[in-house]
Amino acid sequence: MNFKQFTTAAFLALIGTTAIAQHKCGVGVEDGALIKERMLENRRNVPVEQIQAFQNSRAITYVPVKFTIVGDNNGVGYCDIDQIFAMHCDMNNDYRTQDVQFVLKDAANSVRYANNTSIYNDGSGSSASFWMGTNKIAGALNIYTSASVNNQVASYYSPFGDYIFVLNQMANGSSSTGSHETGHFLSLNHTFYGWEGTDFTGGTAPNSVGGSAVERVARSGGTANCASAADGFCDTPADYISYRANCPYTGGGTDNTGAAINPEESLIMSYYADACVDSFSPEQKGAIAADLIQRGWQSLAAPSPTASVSGASVVGVSPIGGASAPLVNDVVLTWNAVPNATGYVVFVERTLFGSSIETVSKAIVYGTNTYTVPAALLSYPRQYSWKVKPFNQYQTCAAYSAPFAFSTTAPATAVEDVFKTSAEMTILSNPVGSMTADVLINVPNATTASMLLYSMDGKQIVNMNGVELNSGDNLQLLDVSSLNNGVYVLVVTTPEGSLHQKLVVQR
Ligand SMILES: [Zn+2]
Repeated sequence: MNFKQFTTAAFLALIGTTAIAQHKCGVGVEDGALIKERMLENRRNVPVEQIQAFQNSRAITYVPVKFTIVGDNNGVGYCDIDQIFAMHCDMNNDYRTQDVQFVLKDAANSVRYANNTSIYNDGSGSSASFWMGTNKIAGALNIYTSASVNNQVASYYSPFGDYIFVLNQMANGSSSTGSHETGHFLSLNHTFYGWEGTDFTGGTAPNSVGGSAVERVARSGGTANCASAADGFCDTPADYISYRANCPYTGGGTDNTGAAINPEESLIMSYYADACVDSFSPEQKGAIAADLIQRGWQSLAAPSPTASVSGASVVGVSPIGGASAPLVNDVVLTWNAVPNATGYVVFVERTLFGSSIETVSKAIVYGTNTYTVPAALLSYPRQYSWKVKPFNQYQTCAAYSAPFAFSTTAPATAVEDVFKTSAEMTILSNPVGSMTADVLINVPNATTASMLLYSMDGKQIVNMNGVELNSGDNLQLLDVSSLNNGVYVLVVTTPEGSLHQKLVVQR
């Protein structure tokens, strides 16, 4: 797929000149051409009056979003669910002025997990792109996240597959990546479209770059080309900066007529630093509305409920307050259900003096206010804490609850097990040459025993019942005066278990 190779090459070209940490988009010129085509098609097909009526009429447009968290074939490398929720929350903050609310598709299994080593290795490879394009959840904005360990491609929107891919480290509440790529999904191009892969270093810009007309500064008059050049919007000023830059722009560049450019650094579809961007222009908003109409998403039903939830209100039930219990079975965490929550992220950590030292598990539960921590993930004696973050389809911005502490102790061992591992019997001076045998019996707990002596042919010869044994060593005398020389078996039986020993009489 040549277009993706180009995108990657463009991205790699940028690495040398910009801070990689903030780079966020792999949409190149070829992808952008398709996005622009769709935007212009929407512009032709959706009358301005319809867009305006839609914008005026709607309270909130609910756009279902399906996050798919992709690990390798063994489930390694999932993006942290907290990052996903932070990104979702940030997208809603950015699109609030559009009256767009991204809602998790489906109340149960709202977030999908998938294992695919191709994507884990290279999020823009052809097999990865094919899988993501063909495994979308219908009727939703599909956003895939993965590590892409062998190819740190930027995050991107694919106009071919109509899905978004976000690098794990770009999925967060501060990078604007989700909002930027969603802008592409909704037909918006970069404000600097045409300059992808080309650095503008100041001076006078050419008439065209990479075959595309360069947008001029003028908004009207004979030289104005803003309606067709670059992103096709006249309320997004000419912008030639296709690399991560700080705001404001101070490069002093001009268009080919000599007019100084003055980019709008707050536009989310620009490449200005994350801290600079937070807005869409009115024409961009109109294009977003047109694309929602074209997708038939202008009146999708609201999820239920449409209420915010808070982690601060979570009341832990058990185990809490440092409760200590022997670790015997799985530990069931319980809290009071939070109003309007349809699911919870449950975070269990091992602690030392109250501070986290290790993650035990982080899991999502739906429709329940309990979570079972498998005993296999716990040990003893140890300190743990757990906390929960409630959410619903409408809102994933809640903080975690306060932590609830518990500790584990060694499981109580059954008396039978203790007897088995510690009780012992020794016949002193064996072979026995006298009329009595001295038998040393050690038991962990006081008990009552029977002492039975058998000949080798299985015949019971001695039977002493009700022998009281103390905890620890007991010396018992066994009368063997009537026994002939030979080999016998002494069996001591207690309610907790039995002891066996060969006894040899040899006078
Ligand atoms: Zn982009």
